[in-house]
Amino acid sequence: MEICVIGGGIVGLATAWYLKQDGHDVTLVEARAGVGMGTSYANGGQLSYRYIAPLADPDVLAKIPAWMLRSDAPVRFRPAFDPEQWRWLLGFLQACNQRDLRYSVAALLPLSLYSKRLIGDLVDARVFDFQWRRNGKLVVHRSEESFAAARRLLDTQPELASEQRAIDAEACLGVEPALARMAPNLRGGIHTPGEEVGDCLALCRGFEQALAAGERPVQVLLGEAVEQIETAGGRLQAVVTASRRLTPDACVVASGVDAGKLLKPLGVTVPIYPLKGYSISPPVREDGGVPSVSITDYQRKIVYARIGNRLRVAGMADIVGFDTSVKAARIGTLVNETRENFGDALDYGDLAEWAGLRPATPTGRPIVGAAPVAGLWLNLGQGALGFTLAAGCGRVLADRIAGRQPAVPDEPFSLSAALQGAPEIPPGSR
Ligand SMILES: Cc1cc2nc3c(=O)[nH]c(=O)nc-3n(C[C@H](O)[C@H](O)[C@H](O)COP(=O)(O)OP(=O)(O)OC[C@H]3O[C@@H](n4cnc5c(N)ncnc54)[C@H](O)[C@@H]3O)c2cc1C
Repeated sequence: MEICVIGGGIVGLATAWYLKQDGHDVTLVEARAGVGMGTSYANGGQLSYRYIAPLADPDVLAKIPAWMLRSDAPVRFRPAFDPEQWRWLLGFLQACNQRDLRYSVAALLPLSLYSKRLIGDLVDARVFDFQWRRNGKLVVHRSEESFAAARRLLDTQPELASEQRAIDAEACLGVEPALARMAPNLRGGIHTPGEEVGDCLALCRGFEQALAAGERPVQVLLGEAVEQIETAGGRLQAVVTASRRLTPDACVVASGVDAGKLLKPLGVTVPIYPLKGYSISPPVREDGGVPSVSITDYQRKIVYARIGNRLRVAGMADIVGFDTSVKAARIGTLVNETRENFGDALDYGDLAEWAGLRPATPTGRPIVGAAPVAGLWLNLGQGALGFTLAAGCGRVLADRIAGRQPAVPDEPFSLSAALQGAPEIPPGSR
């Protein structure tokens, strides 16, 4: 088949990769001058296969009023006269209950573990150099309460217990000595040795090269925005940019936060709204002074990951619309936290400040599957987990396009599932 993929972020590139593996003739269209220049550019770098719980959580709901009063809060909200924002918020509030949370976690875990297997295959192929390491992850808690809650969660999730362990503050320092400055405030942590880290932008570029190589090279069109998807009689007709009109047999929309603009004229609504986040990537001055293990500061909702010679520090979830400007105050919070935890082990003169928009669904579950237009497919809404889930989502969608049953249950990721609440039955049991 001839297939067009719209979007050259990690999700579109991974999808194109698996479509190429299946022998399709693929054209990837990317609006920007290079691949990975959108949200995939400087994210937290965590391949966080076992930390897939969505933001929509009854505990988060309880914290929102206090966060609204603090300028350095991890979540911020700027109300806008934007029906999409309010619709998304309503969906988010509705998803903040135990049933939806359990359903989403049960749906996401097999997908993320499948993604881990596929990333493992990419690493083993030795074609992709993206600073991948299996460095483990330590989620540190500064409050007895939150640490106790994390331990309770572990007790109720036997599928996680074999891979994760709760450790006290002293053991946290044993796992990651660079936490010494944090030690007086540490109450304990959850350590997951199998978690991984990598450079998402480098993997995007690796995909770009690999797509262009070998049999049936993928045509990657850069600097070409798709302006319109044409349909007739409920079927895909053409994908139109300023300079060409492509007429593929199928088209995958993987354009992240911007997908709604292309789909709306077709009468297709996707519940995706941007959750803005920030990162800095200061160069490492003292190896021993920065963590090698990925660290998540649970209370502050900031992640630290060593990627090459820099420490990637990422966080914040601001509900402020499609605004990608880098706000000095938010960067200031990341710098202050990093300095407090790791002192002068980093060079704060070269921060590589960045802001990006997570393409988030209210439930935290991505949308992977058919659109209600024949020949049109969606791979969207990976939110805070796009790097982690891209391989799994790409493979699942390629399977569906080929008419194969995917290796993991995908009904929770259908568009109709995204538009309805969670059913009573667990995913995969139908
Ligand atoms: C601060 C922060 C930290 C994060 N940390 C992590 C992490 O540690 N681990 C993790 O797994 N995930 C993380 N994420 C999430 C992850 O970065 C995203 O889920 C992922 O990058 C989304 O990929 P995408 O391909 O869907 O979107 P994008 O990378 O934005 O790609 C979409 C592409 O589509 C293109 N496009 C849009 N419209 C058109 C059009 N009309 N025509 C052609 N092209 C178009 C855009 O130019 C863009 O390049 C983080 C995100 C943020 C913001």
